[in-house]
Amino acid sequence: MHAQATYTIKKWRRHNCKRNHRTHTTLAKCMFRRAWYVNEGEFGSPAKPLKYAVVFRCIKRHENYTPPRVTLWASPETARLKASTYCGGGCYNNHEIIELEK
Ligand SMILES: [Zn+2]
Ligand SMILES: [Zn+2]
Repeated sequence: MHAQATYTIKKWRRHNCKRNHRTHTTLAKCMFRRAWYVNEGEFGSPAKPLKYAVVFRCIKRHENYTPPRVTLWASPETARLKASTYCGGGCYNNHEIIELEK
């Protein structure tokens, strides 16, 4: 276990798309087209949208490129907690948190 890293939460407002995404999940799937997966980490609701995307960008050992993996969370606290976890073989904490604005 490594020390709790401090993550600056970036905000993403726009992406090159004119569609009106109904949920943050469909928005995230559109924003992270190259992602290996975009998963909901918990149950969202209109009152508790999953707007915090934790993006794991570590490249796995013996691979030149590993697509980003994305999970979605409702609160910045949960997102920070998830971002500070080990993401698999070759993890060097190349993780970030992005707040998605619809
Ligand atoms: Zn879109
Ligand atoms: Zn990692």
